[in-house]
Amino acid sequence: MNSFSDILLAWYRDNRRALPWREVKDPYLIWVSEIILQQTRVAQGYDYYARFVQRFPDVKSLAEADGDEVMRYWQGLGYYSRARNLHEAARSLQDGVFPDTYEGVRSMKGVGDYTAAAICSFAYGMPYAVVDGNVYRVLSRYFGIDTPIDSTAGKKTFSALAQEVLDKKRPGDYNQAIMDFGALVCTPQSPQCLFCPLAESCAALASGQVSALPVKQHKTKQTDRYFNYLLVVLGREDTLIRKRTGDDIWKNLFELPLLETSKDMSVEEFLASDILADFLQGHAEAVIRPLARDVKHVLSHRIIHAHFYEVVLPEGTETFAGYQRVRLVDLERYAFPRLLHAFLEKLLKNGDDSCKM
Ligand code: SF4
Repeated sequence: MNSFSDILLAWYRDNRRALPWREVKDPYLIWVSEIILQQTRVAQGYDYYARFVQRFPDVKSLAEADGDEVMRYWQGLGYYSRARNLHEAARSLQDGVFPDTYEGVRSMKGVGDYTAAAICSFAYGMPYAVVDGNVYRVLSRYFGIDTPIDSTAGKKTFSALAQEVLDKKRPGDYNQAIMDFGALVCTPQSPQCLFCPLAESCAALASGQVSALPVKQHKTKQTDRYFNYLLVVLGREDTLIRKRTGDDIWKNLFELPLLETSKDMSVEEFLASDILADFLQGHAEAVIRPLARDVKHVLSHRIIHAHFYEVVLPEGTETFAGYQRVRLVDLERYAFPRLLHAFLEKLLKNGDDSCKM
C-alpha cells in the first residue's frame, strides 16, 4: 500500500496549481510570496505579488525603499505589520544576502516556523515540514486526531507528525502537495471525500468524524469598534490626513480624522457629541453632513462599524494640529486601510454626492 506522502505526491503531480512563485528557487521571492499569502486568498495575492516583486525584485531594492512606498504596494492586503516586518527584515540583512540556513531564515523579523519551513524546503530542499491551517486539517482528519490544534499539546503533536510523514527526499513538493490538497480536496466545508485518493485509509471518514475535525478549543473573539471618519473639506479642494502611529491596527497607514466612540452613535448623537466639538474646537461655521453610514469592516479580531461625515470649513481655516493638509486629488498617493481606500476611491470617482457604500 502506498504511504500517505506517496499518495499526496501522486495527487500533486496531476493537480498542482501553476503559481508564479512555484517556478522559482529564489528564497527572496518565495519569502515575499509566503508573507503575501498569509491570510490572503491566492487569487488576490497573485496581483500583489506580481506588482511587489516587479518594484522590489530583490532584498537590496526592498531594503533601500521608503517605508511609505512599501505600504502603498501593500495597501488593501490588510495585516500591515507583515509589510513592516518584511521591510525591516530586508533592511537587517547584511549586504542584501538572504540567509541560507534554517536558523538564519527563522531569525528574520516576521518569519515564524511555518514561513521558515516553507522557504527552506522550497528554495533549498531542506527537510522541514510546514504546518498551516490546511496541514492541521488534513492530518487531523486523516489520522483521526482530536487534540485541539490551538493547544500547546496539539501544536506539538501536529508538528511532530508533520515532520514524521514529510517526504525527506522531496520536502518542497510534499509541502506544496499537502497544502494544495487541504485547499482543494480536504476543504473546511464540503471536503471531496468521494473523490479523495486518501479515502480508503482516512480515519475521520471511517469514523464519521470529518466535519468534527480539526478541533479548536478557542473561538476567535471579535470586539466591536465604532469609527466616525471626517472628510474635512478645506477651500473645496483640500482635506486633512495623518499617519497612524499608535500601537493599534493599521500602524503607519494614513487616515482621515477619526473619532472613535465607545458605542454606535446616530447622526444626531454624533453631531451633538463632545468628541466632535473637541475636534472642531469652536469652528461654529463648519457645515457637517453624513456621507456614508453603517459600513461594516470585519478583521480577524475586530468588527469596525464606520460612519463617514463631510465637514466643510471655509478657506483660511487653520490646519488642525497633527494633521497634514493635502489636495483631494492627491489622496491616491497615500496608503490607506482598505476600508478607507474603498470609500475614497468611490468618492473621488463619483463625486461626494454619490458616495454611498
Ligand atoms: S477522505 Fe475526506 S476527510 Fe479524509 S482526507 Fe480525504 S477529503 Fe479529507
